[in-house]
Amino acid sequence: MIKATKSHRTHITIFGKTNSGKSTLFNTFLNQDLAIVSPTKGTTTDPVRKSMELLPFGPILLTDTAGTMDDTKLSNDRIKKTLHELQSTDFAIYIADINDDYEEDYKFFKSKFKEFKTPHMLVINNYGEAKDGTFNVKDKTDVQRLKKDIIGRLNKNANKSLLAPLLNPRSTVVLVIPIDSEAPVGRIILPQVQIIRDALDNSISCLVCRDTELEDTLSRLKAKPDLIITDSQAFDYVSKIVKDIPLTSFSIIFAYNKSGLKEMVEGVKQIERLNDGDKVLISETCSHNHSHEDIGMVKIPSIIDKLSKKNIQYTFAMGTDFPSNLDEYSLIVSCGGCMVNSKTIQSRVNMSTINNIPITNYGLIFSYSAGILDKSLEIFYNNNLL
Ligand code: SF4
Repeated sequence: MIKATKSHRTHITIFGKTNSGKSTLFNTFLNQDLAIVSPTKGTTTDPVRKSMELLPFGPILLTDTAGTMDDTKLSNDRIKKTLHELQSTDFAIYIADINDDYEEDYKFFKSKFKEFKTPHMLVINNYGEAKDGTFNVKDKTDVQRLKKDIIGRLNKNANKSLLAPLLNPRSTVVLVIPIDSEAPVGRIILPQVQIIRDALDNSISCLVCRDTELEDTLSRLKAKPDLIITDSQAFDYVSKIVKDIPLTSFSIIFAYNKSGLKEMVEGVKQIERLNDGDKVLISETCSHNHSHEDIGMVKIPSIIDKLSKKNIQYTFAMGTDFPSNLDEYSLIVSCGGCMVNSKTIQSRVNMSTINNIPITNYGLIFSYSAGILDKSLEIFYNNNLL
């Protein structure tokens, strides 16, 4: 079976004190011995992950975290890593041993689940005879019962379509993909692949061309397309060709899809309020050697420098790294986040809102800089999505 990407999987994470049965639950859930189970405190140090199909719900990513509340040397580092998992967790399981004193730890995690707006379930692990709402996490029948309970609590609509909120079936969209020295050889990048697949899923006709061939492509069409989606870097060029067709970019569609567009549209205006010495955090969720890395490292900083006319300091966070303390930043800039689940971007938007730090994204910065911010949002206004 061809597997779903990580970004399309509902992230379920197991939290709890050391030796509460987290790794046992993880293994029984998967029906495999992946996490090391040991009576020694602190056996799990880094989160352990495994993708699986949770039938009849669908694809999930199950994560076992290091336990909290122990007195081992590495405890603080482990707790940090465990708490970091909250940023991407769609649904949390807090497991407690029936014979342990877990109230204080559970209270702490409950406040964290609330802060991250994460639904959760308390599972009382009873290695004896499981009854009265408890589960024996070594027992496959009990874990089947638990799975059924969890499925009933999961959000079945977590994966929203990218294009369906913007276009009707039988619409036509033109995708503009520059093929320059930055384009990866022999392939197109994930945001473009995901949009094409989403068009197919929603019966939307999709035509792909280079920026330099857009004018010719449009002239050969019998009717105007309903939307043009461009690589953000080509906004300036494309907007001069496309006057009377709605235009947006891959990364702006991702900002809407991952639920942060409204905040990010407000955030882009912060660029002109920046002062000398302000720090800007640039967060890119690619975890590998990406071909267009200089967007985040070079092009975005140079646009911010030009628009703000200030001496700005930049910090870069890559992959799933994202600082838990945002106090020192005056602006956060995110990429489209195609490689992470919506919850990860929502958590970052949420953290920036709580800390009163504006957040925006690559596509909005390019459209703002090209002077077409409203034009690039027209399709969202037309559909009452902003
Ligand atoms: S993770 Fe971000 S930078 Fe990487 S391809 Fe996706 S949108 Fe682009």
